[in-house]
Amino acid sequence: VTGWDDIRDEALGADAADPLRHLRERMALPAGVAYLDGNSLGPLTHAARDAVRRCVDREWATGLIGSWAEGAWVDLAPRTADRIARIIGAPAGSVACADSTTVNLHKALHAAVSLAPGRRRVVSVQGDFPTDRYVTARVAADRGLTVDQVPAGDVAAALDEDVAVVSMSHVDFRSARIADLAGVTAAAHAVGALAVWDLAHSAGALPIGIAASGADLAVGCGYKYLNGGPGAPAYLYVAPRHAAAETPIPGWFGHTDPFAFGEAYAPAAGARRFEAGTTPVLGTTALHAALSAFDGVGMDALRLRGMELTARLVDLFDVHLAPLGVTLQSPRDPGVRGGHVMLGHPRARELVRALAAGGVVGDFRPPDGLRFGLAPLYTTRAEVVRLARELAALLA
Ligand SMILES: *Cc1c(COP(=O)(O)O)cnc(C)c1O
Repeated sequence: VTGWDDIRDEALGADAADPLRHLRERMALPAGVAYLDGNSLGPLTHAARDAVRRCVDREWATGLIGSWAEGAWVDLAPRTADRIARIIGAPAGSVACADSTTVNLHKALHAAVSLAPGRRRVVSVQGDFPTDRYVTARVAADRGLTVDQVPAGDVAAALDEDVAVVSMSHVDFRSARIADLAGVTAAAHAVGALAVWDLAHSAGALPIGIAASGADLAVGCGYKYLNGGPGAPAYLYVAPRHAAAETPIPGWFGHTDPFAFGEAYAPAAGARRFEAGTTPVLGTTALHAALSAFDGVGMDALRLRGMELTARLVDLFDVHLAPLGVTLQSPRDPGVRGGHVMLGHPRARELVRALAAGGVVGDFRPPDGLRFGLAPLYTTRAEVVRLARELAALLA
């Protein structure tokens, strides 16, 4: 019988042979902690710490207002957006970096509804992330449309010529199931509807190919796998063919020339019009720097690494956790499983707390979920083994 020490040693060997192991050194992770919650709040990067210090001490303390004019801040948001664009597979200029995911979804849905005039229905997904359901319901009501919430797998079947917009997450925040981005988008287009996607739980964990998917608009989060820091700015993608789409918040930062202080609103080209107010410089500085942790690595290579990590956890679950009453709430097929794994147990809340007390940090998701984000940039195989081992010990 293979003991836990042998399992750990095999994992340590695989970690040592991993050609991507240097990426972890870009993160400022606390010693001794297995941080498996990067899909809720990504860890600090050395680059973000340095950049925020520089921004505070030099650009703010000394440069003051001159830091706008001299260029450090004026195009910080579009430079950050272009880094995100590479990670989600979008052309430069098609992504705006601004606001929260919630606010960006509000803007994206208004834009999408305006691009599908005369239609009366919006289709969204039961059990989707709360903010997505709240915002979709609000925008639909404000525009005189009704919302149908259907199971994620039934979206295509719910479409007809009266649907203006489909609004859904790419990766489910509970189960980690990956939706059929291109397939649902094509089904929406076949009836003349638009597809608006939330990439919060996929960007930075898997290649998205948002432009190649045909998606109309998309939004996502800066503080999860992108490691932008607590409350980091979020982003909004708009397909280049919709470059004339209208934002419901025509703010001065989305103007073609904000510092001309023009009388009339003239929207900037492309995604930049979806910026509303002034760039949140400290947060965007952190996000911009944090995104450099993805430099020199392809999302396909990260995806393979991530699939190996989640498959390892599922294998350990089968042998060591299922017999102790734990269930698997994520798909078995790694091809449709995102960057996290959801386990289930009636005492999930206590277990997550006890794991954290021992230095293994995951998430409790009501009612009975233990959720572990195995961020492919820095999670190690040894950490996955440590999680399974400590969970088994707690249950025993
Ligand atoms: C985390 C998350 C959000 C977060 O929204 P914010 O407004 O940026 O806090 C939105 N949607 C999904 C699917 C998420 O996972």
